[in-house]
Amino acid sequence: MQKGLNTICVHSGDVKDTIYKGAVSPLYMSTAYAYEGLETSIYPRYFNSPNQYFLAKKIAELEHAESALIFGSGMAAITTAMLSVLESGDHVILQNQIYGGTRNFIIEECHRYGISFDFIDVNNLTLLESTVKPETKLLYIETPSNPLLEITDLKLVSKFAKEKGILTMADNTFASPINQRPLDLGIDIVLHSATKYLGGHSDITAGAVASTEAIMNKVFSKAKNFGGSLADQTVWLLERSMKTLNLRVKQQTQNAMDMAEFLENSSFVDKVYYPGLESNPQHQLAKDQMLGFGGMLSFELNEKRDTVKFFDSLKMIKNVLSLGGVESTVLSPEKTSHSLLTAEERHAQGIKSNLIRFSVGIEDTQDLKQDLLMAFSSDH
Ligand SMILES: *Cc1c(COP(=O)(O)O)cnc(C)c1O
Repeated sequence: MQKGLNTICVHSGDVKDTIYKGAVSPLYMSTAYAYEGLETSIYPRYFNSPNQYFLAKKIAELEHAESALIFGSGMAAITTAMLSVLESGDHVILQNQIYGGTRNFIIEECHRYGISFDFIDVNNLTLLESTVKPETKLLYIETPSNPLLEITDLKLVSKFAKEKGILTMADNTFASPINQRPLDLGIDIVLHSATKYLGGHSDITAGAVASTEAIMNKVFSKAKNFGGSLADQTVWLLERSMKTLNLRVKQQTQNAMDMAEFLENSSFVDKVYYPGLESNPQHQLAKDQMLGFGGMLSFELNEKRDTVKFFDSLKMIKNVLSLGGVESTVLSPEKTSHSLLTAEERHAQGIKSNLIRFSVGIEDTQDLKQDLLMAFSSDH
């Protein structure tokens, strides 16, 4: 029988304390282990220290993957995964709206490897069809997207890619495996910035890749060369954090729905972007492919209202970078995550200057609403 999500979060991939029989995983800090042949010896940069090895199993189980690897950051996971399936001469198709760091990697680094790319609206099959070249090897997706929570139809794009022999990768950071399992929908490789929901307390930088055994062998062969493994102390902390992943994300998801409805009904807000809202044009698609709508939403403050003043008036909700923590946070994509785009590029993506991205925490929503109401009305 398939174990329940909370049980997997608490018990899967714990390191058994066979000596003292303690309740939690012991932390193995060693960087030097007995020599047992080059292939089988333990060495942290081979991603096989006890804590890494077992936590990878928890992540694989949550993503319904055969295998997983944990990395030192989300970007280490993403770049290593991409470079393990791409070679010079290959072409990549990427979704228009993706995480800024991933976008920068593609734009700044790909030409050095002779890899060409196109950013397109991947939900548009006609456009997708006309963008594919004989050398297209990879289709890269991020859903829900940052910051407008656009949904990419994972079944549709993975079916399309399979027919063409193109690999698919999906960054599942925003949904987390609690709210979406891309591999079940036909995607080949799942990526995470574990800095966000998997860590969940805004105090860990980490990443993960999950896929089939065969693909993960390829990822591993590059991963040990690039050296982006995660220090065992942080691996241990990530395992501890992930015990409450389902509890946290469920609460964040419930809170985000509550806050999205509250904001939609507020006269201080022009528009709310949240796939859980029935008014959202992609609500049905999100309902079909997600297990929950997630803890992220965005909204546009009334025109003429100053986002900086609004942020300054908030007492509890923090104006900080990053997302996915137990505490609620807000930021201006124009000034932060998407500041490297030109004004035209932002305009083309629909990112307005009054747009606010809201990572909803686990606090009681009555207190979050009060904080927002106070900041809305002091913003004159
Ligand atoms: C933060 C983030 C990343 C990058 O992760 P780091 O841990 O900062 O390297 C990648 N994708 C998404 C969607 C993110 O939010």
